[in-house]
Amino acid sequence: MEKNTMKALVYQKPGRANGGVIDVPVPEYKDDEILIKVMASSICKPADKNHDGKGSVIGRYPVTPGHEFAGIVEEVGANVTNFKPGDRITADNGTPCGKCYYCQRAMFTFCENFSSMGQNTNGAMAQYAVVKECNAVHVPEHVSLKAASLCELIGCAMRCIENADLKVGDVVAIFGVGASGNLITQLALHSNAQKVVVFDCIQSKLDRVSAKGAIPILVDLDDYSKHEKEFLRMFPHGANVVIDTTGDAELMNRCPDLMACEGKFIGYSFPTTSKRHVKLDMGKFIMKQLTYMGSNFQSHHFQRCVDALANGVIDASIVITHTYPLEDYFEALDTNIQDPECVKVTILPNGSIE
Ligand SMILES: [Zn+2]
Ligand SMILES: [Zn+2]
Repeated sequence: MEKNTMKALVYQKPGRANGGVIDVPVPEYKDDEILIKVMASSICKPADKNHDGKGSVIGRYPVTPGHEFAGIVEEVGANVTNFKPGDRITADNGTPCGKCYYCQRAMFTFCENFSSMGQNTNGAMAQYAVVKECNAVHVPEHVSLKAASLCELIGCAMRCIENADLKVGDVVAIFGVGASGNLITQLALHSNAQKVVVFDCIQSKLDRVSAKGAIPILVDLDDYSKHEKEFLRMFPHGANVVIDTTGDAELMNRCPDLMACEGKFIGYSFPTTSKRHVKLDMGKFIMKQLTYMGSNFQSHHFQRCVDALANGVIDASIVITHTYPLEDYFEALDTNIQDPECVKVTILPNGSIE
């Protein structure tokens, strides 16, 4: 490789005042690692908002964010056998320790020493990044690298759908169709579920997934009884599975009334700090024999995520709404946070691609 410096987003400490796109050395790689030229690196709104504010819980600074990415192999370490320069790849950002209580039970997302690119090791909001060979996955020619940068989030959505354990004929209600809700909806449309109903207060977000077959219901934030009535008119027995991606406590509190007996409620998003108090009516959970289950992030899903893109189960074009060069990172992040029409923003650190 000719160049020895590159552009990277670096936070010296948490907070915008401590972050910027600067010149840094191209990272060094070990024998079992790959140097990847990052072509697409997607913003993960909650995680990247944290870096820009109070900091990530597992963050170790200084750090380069970015854990959703794809690119082209630039160089490989001496022991790498499955990849060569020029290969199109994406890679799992997470490396569980393999030794702790949870790793020993193959519950890797609960690893007590979890290492994640963009959090406690350098990530891919940069022109180059280093990944372990065991985390890398080939991206077929007909899947764009922009699309492949969604794999980490697709993996989390996949885990959510697996936790939901949808039965043939189920009605599933999905609250919120931002990036996660959109991907969960696309997977649900390819599941056992008979009807997939989506709720959001932004019409354009509903339109993206209703074009694929989801039934849209617009939410009036001032009057939740409106969407509830509309839903129960269509499905008087309620939903067999409810998936919440909004973190809206008020909405969650009211959910037991929208659920059929033996229904399952999957909490995917953390309750928003301003409305943290979820007060679920446990009496209703007992009477209707409902289940509450949280759903965490992915590990070891990447090959299936690439397959979902390759097979057309996931259409990335209805998820990625904006692209920006790396130099405009903060403008991109602000758009992602402030623009209600924005779903997913992808940064292109090495110039524009297909
Ligand atoms: Zn993410
Ligand atoms: Zn572990």
